[in-house]
Amino acid sequence: MNSPVNTAGSIRPLHQQPLTSLKGVGGQLGQRLEKLGLYHLQDLLFHLPYRYVDRTTVTPIGCLLPFQAAVIEGEVRDASVVFGRRRSLICRIQDGSGSINLRFYHFSASQKNALATGSNIRCFGEVRPGASGLEMYHPEYQRLSKQNPVPLEQTLTPAYHTTDGISQARLRSLIEQAFSLAKPDSLPDLLVDESTSDDDISLLSRLHYLHFPPQDAPLDALLDGEHPYQQQLITEELMAYQLSLLRLRQQRQQQQAPALNQGHSLISQFKAGLSFKLTDAQQRVCEELSHDITQATPMMRLLQGDVGAGKTIVAAIAALHAVASNKQVALMAPTDILAEQHRNSFTAWLSPLGIQLGWLSGKQGAKQRREQLAALADGSAQVIIGTHALFQDEVIFHDLALVIIDEQHRFGVHQRLQLRNKGPEKHLLPHQLIMTATPIPRTLAMSAYADLDYSVIDELPKGRIPIETVVISQKRRGDIVERIRHACLEGRQAYWVCTLIEQSETLSAEAAEDTAASLQAQLPELNVGLVHGRLKPKEKEAIMAAFKAGEIKLLVATTVIEVGVDVPNASLMIIENPERLGLAQLHQLRGRVGRGNIASHCVLLYGEALSQQGKARLQAMRATNDGFRIAEIDLELRGPGEVLGTRQTGDIAFKVANLARDMPLMATVHHRAKILLEQHPAIAEQLIDRWIGRNEAFAQA
Ligand code: ADP
Ligand code: MG
Repeated sequence: MNSPVNTAGSIRPLHQQPLTSLKGVGGQLGQRLEKLGLYHLQDLLFHLPYRYVDRTTVTPIGCLLPFQAAVIEGEVRDASVVFGRRRSLICRIQDGSGSINLRFYHFSASQKNALATGSNIRCFGEVRPGASGLEMYHPEYQRLSKQNPVPLEQTLTPAYHTTDGISQARLRSLIEQAFSLAKPDSLPDLLVDESTSDDDISLLSRLHYLHFPPQDAPLDALLDGEHPYQQQLITEELMAYQLSLLRLRQQRQQQQAPALNQGHSLISQFKAGLSFKLTDAQQRVCEELSHDITQATPMMRLLQGDVGAGKTIVAAIAALHAVASNKQVALMAPTDILAEQHRNSFTAWLSPLGIQLGWLSGKQGAKQRREQLAALADGSAQVIIGTHALFQDEVIFHDLALVIIDEQHRFGVHQRLQLRNKGPEKHLLPHQLIMTATPIPRTLAMSAYADLDYSVIDELPKGRIPIETVVISQKRRGDIVERIRHACLEGRQAYWVCTLIEQSETLSAEAAEDTAASLQAQLPELNVGLVHGRLKPKEKEAIMAAFKAGEIKLLVATTVIEVGVDVPNASLMIIENPERLGLAQLHQLRGRVGRGNIASHCVLLYGEALSQQGKARLQAMRATNDGFRIAEIDLELRGPGEVLGTRQTGDIAFKVANLARDMPLMATVHHRAKILLEQHPAIAEQLIDRWIGRNEAFAQA
């Protein structure tokens, strides 16, 4: 076992003292701790509870609220196994104030006996609205007996992020040990601000307070993350995150990329051939891009714009710079349908200029794939369009100089870096352009994408007629079917979108099949088509082509049509159970209509049991067509995880910060981080090391 004392006889600093200096930490446990990003004693001290639970009081059952985590006590009045969609044990417990059902999907015979009628139990769990009123699923529970009273907790119970094989209790005891080895002056305050200066409690004591809240701690403040110690540490952690992104940007500025300074005449020729004029905003963004890619440092730019703002053509123009400089461009889309759509647009735009396109999809045949790979490798394919297939190891480019990613919130920073490494030589990186499919509010974009530069197309092409959105109950489904009949008989086309019931493509495909069959029965004079994620790419393509050609009048679809589909004659969209989707996603879907010169309508056909809040959300869709505004509302209602997709959760698990809750701190944090990195880079380093350390895998690239 390593000793905490190094050879010189002095105590090693906490951030260098390995966890193996703790009792009982060796091989397997050590590896598991590494999985949590814990390598040194200091890491344990900063592995703060991500939340607390209050087990200090028993709540009367009659006072429980939905989504509350609570301790309850009562007598089991009935326990029975029911066979519904899933076998479950339902156990009714009652106290003087009311009763509630506990539901267990997994249970053993002994558990069933422990929960027998007449026993008294104490449970802890989250209350949820269920089939029988409020329910608790899989609560923790213990039997109570008069002889052996079990005391309640005296203070808040911390909840830690952990991994298989390390229990909360184990983690707590390791943390306790780490504290016993730490000296107060061994942990400097790196951020000194007004709130800490008149407070001489050491950082170590503040950390201890948060791991082991004293009995007189203000429970509400801690539960809400508003205790001053929490706020200081949240600020530190957010700073560290910002700093790591800003450092990534700094590192990039020291790297090299090919300066793509050709293409001006090719671009003029291209623009002259277009049937429309670029908007001022598109023009401005083109200039921003062209400035970046004529530099010998790699561009890393985020391009935002509302649905239909015309981001694709701007990307095509950027591609021309690379083509004219005899280099290659890769355009990556998140789905087959969208990749196909880009392929069609780029073929129409670039083929007349004699530019060779390449095409890579995970689903193409072996022979075609081999040919395409060869064309990428020898440079005969100049602009290559594809899906994730572009990431694979065997994909070798001849001379890749620009990577364009149509993000749709699905690609993480790791994947982007992977493509970036496909440049011709290790020292020469391709430029990167990332387009987000739906707008992200500026404050959020600034913090989550602080490593990128930022362009926005804040203007729609002229002549677009705003989509009119209505919010209607399922009860009026009949009227809506009539409306479709009418519109289609007048020569227009419609989408009917079925939303997911569960995260299962098979189930949602089946639901869409049923809907298509019943709509076809109600509308025998119209040709109804169906597209969903379970179809083969060829089948999907054929149906989309038939819809585009007007042979299919009504297209029933799952949310696979969310991106990409461009059928100007489709002017009516029904979205069934829109309450299941985020607003940004609804906005993206709605953007499939309103692409031509006819007035378009979107009907949000909500289900029976829509809550007031749910209705208010949908009304927001009716009130505005501005994607940036909708993203802000979505951010308020559903938090940044939903707005950003997996980027946050996939790349960085915050310890104490929570972007949804702590967003208001972000503007200050962003500002302070910039100054700190400039003026005190050594402190910035220490902060990153303290909070992110080896988790900062993406910064290594
Ligand atoms: P998004 O920004 O949502 O990706 P697209 O790039 O798909 O939008 O553009 C939507 C449609 O608008 C496409 O059919 C495109 O050809 C067209 N378009 C793009 N720019 C203009 C413009 N300046 N004027 C008219 N139509 C445009
Ligand atoms: Mg697009």
